[in-house]
Amino acid sequence: MNIFVCVSHVPDTTTKVQVGGDGKAIDPAGVTYILNPYDEYAVEAGLQLKEARGGEVTIVCVGPDAVKETIRKGLAMGADKGLHVVAAEPRDSFGTAKAIADALKDRAADVVFCGRQSIDYDGWQMSGLLGEMLSIPSVSVAAKLDIAEDGSFTAERDIEGGQETITSKLPAVISAQKGLNEPRYPKLQGIMQAKRKPIEDVEPVPYENRVEVLEMSKPPIKEAGKIVGEGPDAVKELVRLLHEEAKVI
Ligand SMILES: Cc1cc2nc3c(=O)[nH]c(=O)nc-3n(C[C@H](O)[C@H](O)[C@H](O)COP(=O)(O)OP(=O)(O)OC[C@H]3O[C@@H](n4cnc5c(N)ncnc54)[C@H](O)[C@@H]3O)c2cc1C
Repeated sequence: MNIFVCVSHVPDTTTKVQVGGDGKAIDPAGVTYILNPYDEYAVEAGLQLKEARGGEVTIVCVGPDAVKETIRKGLAMGADKGLHVVAAEPRDSFGTAKAIADALKDRAADVVFCGRQSIDYDGWQMSGLLGEMLSIPSVSVAAKLDIAEDGSFTAERDIEGGQETITSKLPAVISAQKGLNEPRYPKLQGIMQAKRKPIEDVEPVPYENRVEVLEMSKPPIKEAGKIVGEGPDAVKELVRLLHEEAKVI
């Protein structure tokens, strides 16, 4: 099986992100980057498929040289090699997907795993775009996955208030939901081996962004809470404030 896993290089969730001087992107100073948490499920899905059916797992990431560090995290989990699609300049979601699709189109992928969303820019677009660009089915937000020997598969998707079970056939793009599996922790041996695993650089064709960021801002600072009183006597005032000020009842 020729398995590709797309991973995104995102700020650590514990980092206090600041908007950069141009007001259009985050300030990278002091930011620690990690493998996008949803992509850990995608890597695990790729590794489990390889363990069941054989083949190899390639970690794919579009971005500047620094993303190699994130590719190596996937290699430390057990993937075989990396594919770095070199993009020093920001690309919109379409441009990122196009760079991946161009890099994969002649590599006979059996399956391309993604995370359900990249937690930095939250586009939720990649799996659909990639499926269309590679002319193969795409399934988003897979919470359960069962791939049969003949390549047919069923996936359970989380939908509002329930689940949906779908079926399709490989090759396909599948984006992973939290809970699809239990991602393994890289072992020390895996971390050491990852340093020697190959990462191929690919130059994507030049691309002009279709979407431009005009402004980026942080949410307004929440006002301090208000204590309206204590005990049953405070209920009347609380109801009045919820009705007249907050207008939620
Ligand atoms: C070099 C670079 C700089 C960027 N700078 C900015 C910026 O300044 N402002 C801004 O708003 N956006 C920026 N972006 C992000 C871009 O606009 C998209 O949001 C991003 O590439 C992913 O698209 P998405 O949010 O739709 O992904 P989603 O659809 O939310 O991600 C789903 C999945 O797609 C895969 N994926 C996502 N991104 C990548 C990737 N880069 N490589 C491989 N797989 C991936 C992962 O599996 C991820 O879980 C930048 C992107 C790149 C490559």
